[in-house]
Amino acid sequence: MQATENAIRQVVQEVLSQLSNSAGTNGSAAPQRNGHQTNTWGVFTDVDTAVTAAQQAFEQLSESSIEKRRIAIDIVKSICEEQADELGRLELEETKIGRLDHKIAKLKLVRSIPGIDFLRSDIASGDRGVTITEYAPFGVIGAITPVTHSLPTLAGNFVNMVAGGNTIVVNPHPAGAKIASEGVRRFNKAIYEATGLLNLVTIIGTPTIESAQAIFDHRGVRVAVVTGGPAVARAALKSPKRAIVAGPGNPPVVVDETADIDNAGSSIVTGAAFDNNLLCIAEKEVFAVSSVFEPLMNSVSHHGGFRLNAQQTARLTSLAFAPPKEPGGHHVLNRDFIGRDASWLAGQIGINVPDETQILFGETDEHNPFVPEEQMMPFVPFVRVSDVDTAIAMAKKYEHGFGHTAIIHSTNVKTITKMGRVMDTTVFVQNGPCTAGLGIGGEGFPSFSIATPTGEGVTSPMTFTRQRRSATADGLRVI
Ligand code: NAD
Repeated sequence: MQATENAIRQVVQEVLSQLSNSAGTNGSAAPQRNGHQTNTWGVFTDVDTAVTAAQQAFEQLSESSIEKRRIAIDIVKSICEEQADELGRLELEETKIGRLDHKIAKLKLVRSIPGIDFLRSDIASGDRGVTITEYAPFGVIGAITPVTHSLPTLAGNFVNMVAGGNTIVVNPHPAGAKIASEGVRRFNKAIYEATGLLNLVTIIGTPTIESAQAIFDHRGVRVAVVTGGPAVARAALKSPKRAIVAGPGNPPVVVDETADIDNAGSSIVTGAAFDNNLLCIAEKEVFAVSSVFEPLMNSVSHHGGFRLNAQQTARLTSLAFAPPKEPGGHHVLNRDFIGRDASWLAGQIGINVPDETQILFGETDEHNPFVPEEQMMPFVPFVRVSDVDTAIAMAKKYEHGFGHTAIIHSTNVKTITKMGRVMDTTVFVQNGPCTAGLGIGGEGFPSFSIATPTGEGVTSPMTFTRQRRSATADGLRVI
């Protein structure tokens, strides 16, 4: 096993070093297919051509070996890891949201995403013979990816989906399409050089909502996998095609009187500050019981939070949100504020905070729009409540039934159990930062696509397979 892994790493290293010595991503000889030059390395302008290329790639992959899938996946992981500084910087320059250190960390995390080793077969063996359940690919998967983690989501999807034997056509978010396309070019070129497999992932270089819809509707696409906000989640759920939807969240945090307050403050800052609160699992609002409210606020300050007073909080709120367009509607999030640094947000309300400030935070009531809305910026509202039952009820209300993520800081097992049951979320974290739910500061494997309304959970290679059963009657049981 170790020998195989070392051999694969060696092949990957050789290919990557040859590529870095060549004239760049457009410099090497392009493969020929059906007499046509296909030197776009998987980047296409129209959906039909991209799907056709992904279909051809699926046929090629199906005739290939699992070992070649493993090599392809290791190439993607190695590019993400070794070129993380450059690719992370390109992603930040294009999207203009988040933090460079965390853009880099997210690309390096792709190494931990489960691949081939996660695949399994199941067997039933008894008096009447042997029945094997195997997990087969779907074929071409249409993936819609968000701007919040453009290349990491694409790369993470690649690892899971190609491990399952699928190929992919991607509609990236338009504001993160250049970095996603650059990743696709680098992946495909290196994979072709190492394995001869071409276009395992294709992408629409100039994506639109129409091209996303065309992918949903295309006969050649077997499954749509959507990672994004409410509009695209709704569009996917309406599609007649099988959809796996990693939808929006608004993760609440409850802190009760039994919590380790220092750990709670530190964890909230760590989770909410990550990539300037762009993570869908990140702490978005806190409900803390009054007896520990002030110690908690002090702990957050101590761990890199900057506390705003009531006037400053009101001013930031008025800039970050416009009033609802109709009575009872949603406040309208100012997209210019998404993913900006805490110091930039502070500057908008005329205050200077140290550059190293991780988050801004302040006391609000439950009706402040920062509580119900998914703000995706490093300001966290803290709501003071009389008791933990009220806190859990508010957490339930403001999670909106997304069923995404909830967090509690408590040492009372009964309270933790109660919240877990009430929230009914896909990810439920206790006594750590949100990232513990994805294996960072906790156990388990990571993914950039957490399938919430459709129920597949934290996605893995098995998510992107379909079961096939093979039964041998009265035979092959060798014991
Ligand atoms: P977004 O919804 O604006 O965009 C996501 C993708 O959907 C983009 O490719 C976009 O072009 C496309 N899109 C948007 N509206 C569409 C429509 N009506 N029809 C077809 N396609 C459409 O989201 P974003 O700002 O890029 O990402 C942030 C959102 O994604 C947040 O709500 C966050 O919670 C969610 N998210 C969820 C997960 C998860 O694993 N559950 C992971 C990351 C992000």
